[in-house]
Amino acid sequence: MLTQIKDHDGSDGAAGQKRQAIVIGSGFGGLATAIRLCAKGYQVDVLEKLDGPGGRAYVIKQDGFVFDTGPTIITAPWLLDELWELCGKKVSDDLDLREMSPFYDVRFDDGTIFTLSGDKEEMRRQIAKFSPEDVANFDRFMTRSKAIYDYGFAGLANVSFDNLKTMLKSAPKIMELVGLRTVYGLVSKYIKHPKLRIALSLHPLLIGGNPYSVTAMYCLINYLESNWGVHFAMGGTGKLVDGLVGLVEQQGGKMHYNSEVDRINVTNGRATGVTLKDGTVMDADIVVSNADAAWTYEKMLPDVKRKRWTTGKINRTRYSMGLFVWYFGTNRRFEDVPHHSMVLGTQYKELLTDIFKRKRLSDDFSMYLHRPTATDPSMAPDGCDTFYALVPVPHLDANVDWAVEGEKFRHKVEQRLEETVLPGLGDTVISSTFVTPKDFETRLNSFKGAGFGPEPVIWQSAWFRAHNRSEEVDGLYMVGASTHPGAGIPGVITSARVVSEGIPHARELV
Ligand SMILES: Cc1cc2nc3c(=O)[nH]c(=O)nc-3n(C[C@H](O)[C@H](O)[C@H](O)COP(=O)(O)OP(=O)(O)OC[C@H]3O[C@@H](n4cnc5c(N)ncnc54)[C@H](O)[C@@H]3O)c2cc1C
Repeated sequence: MLTQIKDHDGSDGAAGQKRQAIVIGSGFGGLATAIRLCAKGYQVDVLEKLDGPGGRAYVIKQDGFVFDTGPTIITAPWLLDELWELCGKKVSDDLDLREMSPFYDVRFDDGTIFTLSGDKEEMRRQIAKFSPEDVANFDRFMTRSKAIYDYGFAGLANVSFDNLKTMLKSAPKIMELVGLRTVYGLVSKYIKHPKLRIALSLHPLLIGGNPYSVTAMYCLINYLESNWGVHFAMGGTGKLVDGLVGLVEQQGGKMHYNSEVDRINVTNGRATGVTLKDGTVMDADIVVSNADAAWTYEKMLPDVKRKRWTTGKINRTRYSMGLFVWYFGTNRRFEDVPHHSMVLGTQYKELLTDIFKRKRLSDDFSMYLHRPTATDPSMAPDGCDTFYALVPVPHLDANVDWAVEGEKFRHKVEQRLEETVLPGLGDTVISSTFVTPKDFETRLNSFKGAGFGPEPVIWQSAWFRAHNRSEEVDGLYMVGASTHPGAGIPGVITSARVVSEGIPHARELV
């Protein structure tokens, strides 16, 4: 493919210069778009506010520990294959991607554990452990999950929802597949046991949705995971980010860190480039924003009269939950703790209501515990463990003063872990740092400090989400979690495909 890019270098003939594309932000969506635009003949500059790439997948290296700050559960590996193949390479040239077996544990408050895996027989055994009568129900649920996947992910996720017609055309099939049910509602239609209902419906939490309110289209994740597996990049997700950066640079794209865009420049309704916070002006033929869509519209286009994404609409949007993430390293290994586990509290449903509806910081909490050193000990000093505990909390509408509450909350998380899966933890912690929703706002420019952009409820999905081709400014495109199809690595990499398919090849740009 590199040769192909040289053959069709996107020159505009007259001036002999390449068409210029600017990508704002180096999250997975921004990097995947940059790779695709390089392959379409553009000279690409990626402008990143932080001092390194990855966005939510930024890496902290501290005291000999490697902390992936964000995504750790890698699914839909073929989406990565596509990007590497576009550059004439294979993922394995740059990465050691391992399939996890099992995927993860769901630990209930009474100590019972449900283990999810891609092994169908083992899954049936796990179901039977809780409720033998649900084994056949589970098989039926997975058949439904596959049907939803086939239509919802293999089909709709790849479609640009720029016009209402596409939405209206797909509505009857969506109704037939899931109706107005929520993820929890559809799982409960099949599964009887209350714990299994929770364990099989918690996936939306990984992309910012409340299982009790997001559309059952997200039941596609059960099939996605079970059929293509859960993967881990040895060395951590940061290695995957490095691999993507490598693809951008090998194709001639340029990464610019510590380069925060202040505004997108617009002339006669068309994006003409950007102005950085330091005053530097950069011109471009097209601009792609991987920054939060609400932030892009509200803060980066001050002089544009917006037709759809008005301040009112942005404020009325329902945003996903916030996240408190504690990264810590221990001076010993906790061999019994799996790589991925969900450690649930006593009041699961009430807790989610506190987070999503009441916007209240609860005393009870459920968390996702990541222990990458279970798979790759090189991510910590010898004999030590690297962890993070991710706790869903309300976003910034909750009015929590995280500067005051942060350390108190971290301490509660530590206590809870001591009581459940990490006895004696307090005496072993030798490295520690945490982030709160306030950091999501100040570091990542995330509106209301939300972890995943707008909540993926049905009226905020597809056509209702920020379009991949901006509705407000010509030549401006939007990619990433807050756009169609939504959050999560598979979602944002797919949004990069949808964006780039809507952008002409550099030599065809008029
Ligand atoms: C803690 C956590 C755990 C997660 N776990 C998983 C998981 O296991 N599996 C999974 O699939 N997904 C997971 N997710 C979700 C997934 O990480 C995200 O949906 C995805 O990475 C978002 O990618 P993005 O392309 O939207 O960009 P982001 O990662 O949001 O990056 C956007 C970038 O834009 C930059 N930016 C913003 N404004 C400007 C500006 N003005 N100028 C320049 N740069 C700017 C930001 O600094 C940032 O680097 C997790 C998320 C979090 C937070």
